[in-house]
Amino acid sequence: MRLAERMGRLGSESAFEVLRKARALEARGREIVHLEIGEPDFDTAPHVVEAACRALHSGATHYVSPVGLPELREAIAADLGPRRGQEIDPAQVVVTPGAKPIMFFTLLALAETGSEVIYPDPGFPIYESMIRFCGARPVPLPLIEAKGFRFDVDQFRDLVSEKTALVIINSPQNPTGGVLQREDLAAIAAVCAERDIPVLSDEIYEQIVYDAPFSSIAEMEGMSTRERTIILHGFSKAYAMTGWRLGFGVMPTALAEQMNLLMVNSNSCTAAATQWAGIAALQGPQDGVERMVAAFRERRDLMVAGLNALPGVSCVSPGGAFYTFPNISETGMDSATFSDWALQEAGVACLSGASFGDYGEDYVRLSYANSLENIQLALDRLGEALARR
Ligand code: PLP
Repeated sequence: MRLAERMGRLGSESAFEVLRKARALEARGREIVHLEIGEPDFDTAPHVVEAACRALHSGATHYVSPVGLPELREAIAADLGPRRGQEIDPAQVVVTPGAKPIMFFTLLALAETGSEVIYPDPGFPIYESMIRFCGARPVPLPLIEAKGFRFDVDQFRDLVSEKTALVIINSPQNPTGGVLQREDLAAIAAVCAERDIPVLSDEIYEQIVYDAPFSSIAEMEGMSTRERTIILHGFSKAYAMTGWRLGFGVMPTALAEQMNLLMVNSNSCTAAATQWAGIAALQGPQDGVERMVAAFRERRDLMVAGLNALPGVSCVSPGGAFYTFPNISETGMDSATFSDWALQEAGVACLSGASFGDYGEDYVRLSYANSLENIQLALDRLGEALARR
C-alpha cells in the first residue's frame, strides 16, 4: 500500500512505546515501577460514574450535537468564565472526545504550508507532530531549566515573524512541570494582541498547581477567548477521567463554527453519557480534586528530594502537573540511553527528555502519579543501579 506523503510527517508519544516495552518485561516476570504514563492513578469519583450510568439507562445512547450537549456547554461556560474573569458564551465551547482533538482541529483550521507555529520545546510531542502534519513549519521556543522551565522573552519576540499563524503555550507544563508566570504571559500577550496572532493555551493541568495560583493568557488585555485565545481544557487530569475521552476548547465563536465542521467530518459527536458524566464532575463536590492535588504535592516533594540525592542527577521542583524533569547529564548518559538503562537495570519506566523535543536532551520525565511506596522503590532502585555502574 502506498501511503500519502503526509503520514511520514506524523510523530508519536514515547509514553505508549515505553509502556509496551515495560509490559513485555513484565510478561517475562520482571517487576516494573511505572513512572512513564501521564495519568492520575486515582479512580473517577463515584458520583461521576453514576451520572454516566444513569444517562445510559435513560437512553443517552444516540447521536448528539457535534459540538456538545447544550447542558455541558453551558456548564463549562458557567464554570470557566468566572475563573478567567470574562463572560463565556456557550457558543464558544466545543466539546470533543478528549482534549487532543482541540489541538488537531486548531492546527487544521489555522496552520498551513508557508505558515509557522511557535510551540514549547521540550513540550507535548503532539504539538510538533500536528504542526508538521498540517504542512506548517514548527518553530520551537526553548524552555530553560535555570528559569524553572520558562522561556526567554527576548527569544520569543525574535521567533515571531509575519508568517506566525499560531503560538502554542502550555502551563502547567508537560513534561517539565513548569508554570508560566504573569510576566511571561503578558510578554506573549503584548506581541500577539498587537500582531493579531491567535494563541492556543493548553490549560489541561490548571487545577494541579502547588506554589502559586494559576494564571491564563486569556485574562490579559486583548487576549480573551472572544478575541484570540483558544483554551484547550478537559476532564482527563483534574477529574481522573483519561479513559472517558472528554475534553473541550473555548474560542472565538467564528472558530467554534469551523470546529463544528471538523467534528461533523471526523467524530460526529462526543458520547452523550460521557458528557453527562462531565456535567456531574463540574457541578458535584470538588473535594476529590483537592485531595488528589494534596497527594501529588507530597509525592512531588518525595521524588524531588530523592532525585537530588542521586549521583549525577539534579532536579528543580516543578510548580505544577505531576511530572519531574531531572537533568541527568552528569551521569554520562544521554536521555534516551538513560531511559532504556533505567528500564533494563532498575526496572523503572521513564521517558527520554529528547522525545519531547531537541531541548529535552539531558533530561528524563518521571511521573509521580504513583504511590509514595512505588516512588520510594523507584528511587531506591535507581540509586542502587547508579552505584553499580
Ligand atoms: N495536553 C497536554 C499537555 C497533555 O499532557 C495531554 C495528555 O497527556 C493532553 C493535552 C491530552 O489530554 P486528553 O487525554 O484529554 O486528550
